[in-house]
Amino acid sequence: MAVAPRRIAIIGAGQAGGQAAYSLRLAGYDGAIDLIGDEPAPPYQRPPLSKAYLKGEMEAERLFLKPLEYYSEHAINLVTSNAAKKIDLAEKRVELAHGAPISWDKLVIATGARPRKLAVPGADLKGVVELRTLADVDQLKLLAAPGARLVVVGAGYIGLEAAAVGAQLGLKVTVLEAMPQVLSRVAGAEIGAFYTYVHRTAGSDVRLHARLEGFEGSGHISGVRLAGGEILPCDLALVGVGVLPNLELALDAGIVCGNGIVVDAQGRTSHPDVHAAGDVAWRPLVHFGREGRLESVHNAIEGGKIAAAAMLGAAPPTLEVPWFWSDQFDLKLQTAGLWTGADAQILRGDPQSKAFAVFYLKEGRVIAVDAVNSAAEYVVGRKLVAAQATIAPAELADKSISMKDIGARALG
Ligand code: FAD
Ligand code: NAP
Repeated sequence: MAVAPRRIAIIGAGQAGGQAAYSLRLAGYDGAIDLIGDEPAPPYQRPPLSKAYLKGEMEAERLFLKPLEYYSEHAINLVTSNAAKKIDLAEKRVELAHGAPISWDKLVIATGARPRKLAVPGADLKGVVELRTLADVDQLKLLAAPGARLVVVGAGYIGLEAAAVGAQLGLKVTVLEAMPQVLSRVAGAEIGAFYTYVHRTAGSDVRLHARLEGFEGSGHISGVRLAGGEILPCDLALVGVGVLPNLELALDAGIVCGNGIVVDAQGRTSHPDVHAAGDVAWRPLVHFGREGRLESVHNAIEGGKIAAAAMLGAAPPTLEVPWFWSDQFDLKLQTAGLWTGADAQILRGDPQSKAFAVFYLKEGRVIAVDAVNSAAEYVVGRKLVAAQATIAPAELADKSISMKDIGARALG
């Protein structure tokens, strides 16, 4: 067993950074841990920010991954409202915006990602908001009175989840998506068409192929201008057009980066004592034989665990197939695997019934599943993806064959 480091610093007190700290203590590591976060709150879960918390159905404290006292009880030095400004690899220390630098023997970079900004006129008007942090949602809630006109730019997870809450709270919602379908980055055409239908049925104006030219208003937003000149009057615009990894600290330190900080299967960067995890990491995706950057709770938790194990010289955790979920209205979408590269999409069930699934196949093998209100399809589908099972499309589509039987036949 390797000698345990005496000091471990973690930059980014979010889902991945928090997990790395918890896993270190769970594994019995008793050296120093400094967990450095630039937000005022302790590590918290973001998913409810665009769901229950936005809707006003959840208290902020329930978002916290651990109660505040956990950190002192476990001797984790939680630094809040203080940003890491520089990683000094030669001296092995992190310089902070305020106060003395922090020394480390091993370092984890878990700085997450930030919302992409739109480079259009009026993007800095009051009332043009983004949704990444607790502070963002608290600001959004203040502006979102019932009856207000909300324009959502980008029909990804953030945009659609917020649009669903907006419609439920009585806002007049318009969704603008540049692509020909909603959820285009994360799901296929069948799922996209279904969610477009769902949002339109809830009264929202969903516009595909939309070309935003800018935001109108003086001081506060009053409208959104589209290519062709149409102006949509509005009181509020939420921009959810994807994220950029926060990799500048690593880049400045000379750590190898691409579209993320490049790490190996142990979460190790190009510097042997520096690891990275979560949204910021470009990592091997072992189930898919390639590398990539994932943006999900599962990926952040797994990355935190991998980094903690590697720093202690312990065995890595068992790696799961990537999984995701999205709650909109009364619909739970559960996804396992990554659909990119699929050459066939098999529909199982009737979307009109609001309980159905789409299986994504590549060269006859199951690479992903999207299950809407369909727990069995998700649970068995996840196993099929992990095994890269080969199944006849007609069998997958046949609702008279249970998922249990499909799983038993395909997985043995
Ligand atoms: P983060 O959780 O973003 O944490 C990174 C932290 O590092 C942040 O607090 C950041 O401010 C801080 N930081 C950055 N730079 C510095 C610095 N220089 N010094 C100090 N601190 C710094 N995923 C799902 O799987 N399911 C969902 O339903 C889901 N819903 C979501 C809803 C919303 C609104 C959002 C925004 C995300 C959602 N996600 C969901 C994605 C998921 O929350 C992220 O993938 C996950 O939080 C990534 O964890 P992370 O630790 O890498 O980054
Ligand atoms: P996203 O999934 O990348 O979706 C952004 C969407 O906006 C894309 O379809 C994008 O199309 C579109 N878009 C880009 N520019 C546009 C423009 N000018 N006008 C209109 N549409 C435009 O990202 P997101 O929804 O912003 O989510 C941000 C992060 O939060 C991600 O990490 C996401 O995974 C996470 N999140 C996850 C969940 C969940 O898992 N349930 C929920 C909320 C948030 P292009 O593909 O053409 O760029």
